[in-house]
Amino acid sequence: MPECWLFVRCGQCERSSEYPLKLMAKRHSPKRKLSEVLAKLVCANCGGRPAKIALKENHLRDGKGKPEGWVVYLS
Ligand SMILES: [Zn+2]
Repeated sequence: MPECWLFVRCGQCERSSEYPLKLMAKRHSPKRKLSEVLAKLVCANCGGRPAKIALKENHLRDGKGKPEGWVVYLS
């Protein structure tokens, strides 16, 4: 699996978070499918379900600068 970032935006409080996919793989069983992990994702702030999920090639630090690389929206 390439090194990329999981972008999640909450549907309730609209908080966005980005996680390295490596970390997600460590946190969950390696046998678990990405779709199963995504199905269980909830907002760290309010516990709401994500409204938007995307895979990004690069992390956008501090929300500044131009995002580089590809972005794939999963929802
Ligand atoms: Zn939230």
